[in-house]
Order: sequence, then C-alpha cells, then structure tokens
Amino acid sequence: MRDKWGEALTTQEPIPPFVTPPWQQGPKTYIDKDDETARERHNRETATGHDLSIYTDGSGIEDRIGAAAVCPHTGDNQAAIWSVIKAEGRTGAYILEEIARQIQDLQDRGRPVRIRWVPAHEGIPGNEAADMAAKEATGWRENGRRAPTASEPPRLFTLRSTLKRRCKQQAEIAWNAKWRKETKGRATFRNTPSPTKRVLKIHKGLRKRDSALLVQLRTEKIGLKDFLFSRKVPDVASSRCDCGAIRQTVAHVLLHCRTHNDLRNRIFGDRPGRHNLRTILNKPQLATKAIEYMEQTQILGQFGIADA
Ligand SMILES: [Zn+2]
Repeated sequence: MRDKWGEALTTQEPIPPFVTPPWQQGPKTYIDKDDETARERHNRETATGHDLSIYTDGSGIEDRIGAAAVCPHTGDNQAAIWSVIKAEGRTGAYILEEIARQIQDLQDRGRPVRIRWVPAHEGIPGNEAADMAAKEATGWRENGRRAPTASEPPRLFTLRSTLKRRCKQQAEIAWNAKWRKETKGRATFRNTPSPTKRVLKIHKGLRKRDSALLVQLRTEKIGLKDFLFSRKVPDVASSRCDCGAIRQTVAHVLLHCRTHNDLRNRIFGDRPGRHNLRTILNKPQLATKAIEYMEQTQILGQFGIADA
C-alpha cells in the first residue's frame, strides 16, 4: 500500500482531539427554519451596515471540489477561492480547527462572529457570487470552456476517510486480479466470478455439517462420481451417474438428474433461479434448499459428511 500511496499516506490529515476547548464560547450560529426567514434575517442584519459579511460556498463538479469565500463590500475581486481535488468525506477536523482558531482570534479582539446558514443562492448577490466562485475554483466556466483550477489551500491533507476508501479499493482490485489468475479453486470461480465477503452470509445460521456440504457444492470437491473418478478413488469405476448421464457433477445432480426429478420439484418448487447453478449456490434461500436436497438424495453415501 505504501508504495502505491506513498505520498498520500504521509500527508494524512492530523485529527485533533478537540476542535475547540470545551469551555470556549463559539460563534453564534443561526439555522433558520425556512428560506424565507433566513433571507429576511440576512437582509435585516446586513442593512445596518455594521457587519462585514463574508459569503461562502462549496461546489463539486467532475470529481473536483471548489470552495469560495466572497466579501462583496471590500471592492472587486476579493474572492478567496480554493480548489480541493476529491476531498469528500466526513473527517476534516483539522479544517474546522483552523476556522475555530481564527474565529476565536476575532472574538478576542472584540469582533463577534455570527455564522448564518442561508439556503438557495437566488436573491442574495453575495451568495450567488460565492456559488459562482466555488464552481470556478474547480476550473469550470459558464461558457463550457475549462480554465485552470484555483490554487490549493496552504494546508491540504488527504482526509482519513478518503485514504480508507482508496486502500479498500486497492485491496479489492488486487483481490479481483488474484481471483482471476489463480489456478486453483476454478469451480468456486465459476460459481462466484467476483470475490466477495458476501459468500460468508450464505453460511450464516447453517449447521456446521450443512455449511461443510455447501462448501463442497461450491468447490465441486465433493463425493460425486465425477470428482471421485477424476481423483482415482478406489472402487469408483467411472464418472457416470446411476441415471445414465456420463458425468455425475454438482450441476447434473442439482439441475438435471432424472432419478431425483420428483424430490427436486418438491424441494425447490417454482422458486426463481432454481435452474441456475450460480444462483442456487449464491442465494441463501436456494443454498439451504440445495443442502436439504443433497441430504435427501443420499447420493453422497459413504463420501458424505460424517456426523460430528
Ligand atoms: Zn443422474
């Protein structure tokens, strides 16, 4: 993993134990009950001219996240914009910590900070500007042409959630590749083309011997003539089934064997998927039926699973 993600791993975000000390008074925060109330409060408070308003927004376009802070009353082009590439995730406390520090700094200097959530961009020019700036930080432009992205923030770490997801993806890719290239266990590969921990689910709640039988059905290493004959088991003279079929395989017994037509119809009924080996061996309900069926055929005889 370190080879693949060397750089990213060393820039993993630090996660501070506290974003703010528990005794610290944070900024006053408003989340109004609806758009209208929020807009009215915004218009009322900004009309006084006492406040400095900074509008912020974030925008995700084509895997890029742009963030912007716009301060409309300090002249043109005061937008501070950053682009952050693929920084989704719920961690990010280090960012909050920085915000908290700066807010505290302002409050200590007698400048109270209020955080206000104002939904929708329409009707509030500052918000509209922040929305546009956040989009443009990703390189997006209204005319459809792309432009360079805005510069990255001075401190940018890979969020732990992002790292975790990448590691998981890498492991899955490696597992898949190995699964395909492996020369052993090809029956299992046929029955479950993509490796998955879901396989464990079909064993949940099964008695130990039933679980063992299911493994045998899925791997096709099982006391049926086709496998026994191929392994040159003494006294097994051919791969033939008693019904006359040339190969007594798992598929033959579960899907086709004439000798057990009645039993099969009784146990599987008209459940969807009963004619598909892969489905039978991967769906918990059908797998349970397959176990019941195999036991009742008594076909495994001395090669079956001994009672513990
Ligand atoms: Zn048969």
